[in-house]
Parts: sequence; structure tokens; C-alpha cells
Amino acid sequence: MKISEMNWQQLERYLTTDDRVIVPLGSTEQHAYLSLSVDSILAEKVATEAAEPFGIPVFPVMPFGMTPAFSDYPGTISLSMQTYIGLIYDILNNLKRQGFRRILFVNGHGGNSPAQNIIGEWMVNNPGITVQLHNWWNAPKTWEKVASIDPVASHASWMENFPWTRLPGVAMPDERKPMLDLVALRKLDPTQARAYLGDGNYGGFYQRADDDMLAIWHTAVGEIRDVISAL
Ligand SMILES: [Zn+2]
Repeated sequence: MKISEMNWQQLERYLTTDDRVIVPLGSTEQHAYLSLSVDSILAEKVATEAAEPFGIPVFPVMPFGMTPAFSDYPGTISLSMQTYIGLIYDILNNLKRQGFRRILFVNGHGGNSPAQNIIGEWMVNNPGITVQLHNWWNAPKTWEKVASIDPVASHASWMENFPWTRLPGVAMPDERKPMLDLVALRKLDPTQARAYLGDGNYGGFYQRADDDMLAIWHTAVGEIRDVISAL
């Protein structure tokens, strides 16, 4: 149930029967030939589909995350760590005030992982409220599914190329790009990083069969449903 399709009165009624809510976390950044919004599209869609049978409200995805290394690619917006701390605190403080007690962040972007520490810190001073961060793409079952199809998979490669993240009329290269050196990348400034990454794919094929992608998708949706059940 998307928050964007509810009014406040409906949400207030929901709160008399349940205290769970989902907030998807995304990013707007280069994804090679795929949409700049890949991480946001995937986080919101996978969270919404997973929540559907539970009737749990899902907020609109937070479209910006922390992605400093891609700052030289047009369309990339990176929030500072300072901003992100404030963002997570503000979201949690508001949800707490309104009566939500079990809060799930479904994260679609690796650079947002420090949110785990921010959440942990917030929970120290807010006992009685469960907050969980779920990185949907590298959760155990989903990651295992990806690796079973093709272990060479990373940012902007085939593993992010779903029917809902690719762009009409944009052809994908046929090659299997060699995996980059992540340690080397971390030493580069944004200009050097762009020169090193080229189109932006970290490594692997650019596209695989849709049957493979749907199998990964169903695994990810099911894995989030298990998380929701245990929240
Ligand atoms: Zn991504």
C-alpha cells in the first residue's frame, strides 16, 4: 500500500491495527546505460510488492543517497554524511511520534550502508522501537540467486538491468566487462574515478535473460516478506 495512494485519515485508521511501516532508500547516480534512478526504482518497487499481502504502508523512496565517487557524472546527486544522519533521524523521530513502532528501511544502494550505524545510534535513545535496515540486493538468498546465475555482477551490470530499469531504445554492449579493482577505485577522486570507470559498469555482462532477472526478483520479494514477518 503506497503512502502516495492514502490520505492521513486512512493511515490513522491503519495505526489502530498495526504499527509497521516501510521506507525505501534510493540514490540518483550514474548506472552506465541504465536509468539514473535504478537504485530508487528497485528499492521502491521491491518494497511495495513485498508489503502488498501485509497491507503495510510504503513511503515514497528517498531519491538521494550517499554516492561521492560518482560526482563527476551528470545527474548524480550525493548527500553528505552529515545530511544523511539528519535525514534518518528526522524520518525516525516523525514516525515514532505518530505511533509507528516497527520500521523497515529497504535500501537499494550500497553507499547508504552507514545508515545501519545511524539507526543503531538512534535506537539507543529510543527504546521499544524496532528499526531494521534491509539491503535487498545483497541479502543472503537474493545474493545467492545472483551468484548462481553469474558471479560476475556488480553496480550497473546485468544484475541491475530489469525490464523496469532499462531505457527504451538504448542498446547494451555485448561484452563481459572485467571486474574493477574496488580498492584502487576507493583511492581516486571523482574525476579520476570517472576516467577509470568509463561507462560506469563495475564489471560483468550488461544484460541477461529476463527469466533470470524475474527469478532474482521473486527471490528478493520473498526474502523481504520473511523480514516483514519477523519484524
Ligand atoms: Zn545501483
